[in-house]
Amino acid sequence: MSVHDPNCIFCKIIAGQIPSRKVYEDDELFAFHDIDPWAPVHFLIIPKRHIASMSHLTTADEGWMGRLMVLAPRLALEQGCNPYPEGGFRMVCNTGAEGRQEVQHLHWHVMGGPRPWARG
Ligand code: 5GP
Ligand code: ZN
Repeated sequence: MSVHDPNCIFCKIIAGQIPSRKVYEDDELFAFHDIDPWAPVHFLIIPKRHIASMSHLTTADEGWMGRLMVLAPRLALEQGCNPYPEGGFRMVCNTGAEGRQEVQHLHWHVMGGPRPWARG
């Protein structure tokens, strides 16, 4: 598994070769606003290392994957999601063709904000 896939659109976003509206960055994780939002708040959290999907995770990924899960609610609030329980957010990780995954770089959608949403 390569660190950076030169044909991957999200690897290009991490590298700054394709512009994005950044939400967060650290050594292992990157978050940016979705270009076609379903909700008032809609951003993606991705590992910087190219991993094709959630099906490719191993026990070696438990550390950053756990950090991602703890980071998500903090970023959701920072980006304008309302607090739980009246507010909250939805986290989705489409995986594979039947899971309707379109970009083959593992990403978590974080969607929230006041209803109605454009979709979902
Ligand atoms: P998937 O269907 O693979 O779970 O979701 C891929 C998501 O990536 C979609 O919601 C789509 O709008 C978003 N996306 C695709 N290309 C780009 C891009 O170039 N920039 C940004 N910010 N989002 C993108
Ligand atoms: Zn990639």
